[in-house]
Amino acid sequence: MRIALIAHDKEKPEMIGLTVKYKDCLENQELYATGTTGKLVSQATGLNIKCLKSGPLGGDQQIGSMIADNDLDLVIFLRDPLTAQPHEPDVTALLRLCDVTKTPLATNISSAEIMLNALRNNTIDPRK
Ligand code: PGA
Repeated sequence: MRIALIAHDKEKPEMIGLTVKYKDCLENQELYATGTTGKLVSQATGLNIKCLKSGPLGGDQQIGSMIADNDLDLVIFLRDPLTAQPHEPDVTALLRLCDVTKTPLATNISSAEIMLNALRNNTIDPRK
């Protein structure tokens, strides 16, 4: 499956912990990430990740474009709900496109765990 990983700065340690924990099932997937998230996750896990631009510099829009083209199957976006983001419009657009295309989206660690457990147990039906 084609999976996007994005984490706001305060959530990056959780994203790293999550990807270390689920490395076994993530290594069989096609992974994409915004720049800094992808760099940190690949350094911590050795996973092969296609890194796009950093989120505030257009990476969220690049992921949004992939969602609009139905080029992603799952999105894990660990958002920081307590810090204002300079690229909030891009974040909102990405989340909206997930709903428009009915792309599964996890925006916090608890829902991401449920999603990755389903992936590990092979109980996610690809939408397409
Ligand atoms: P980053 O972008 O992975 O480049 O930090 C994440 C974001 O803030 O959207």
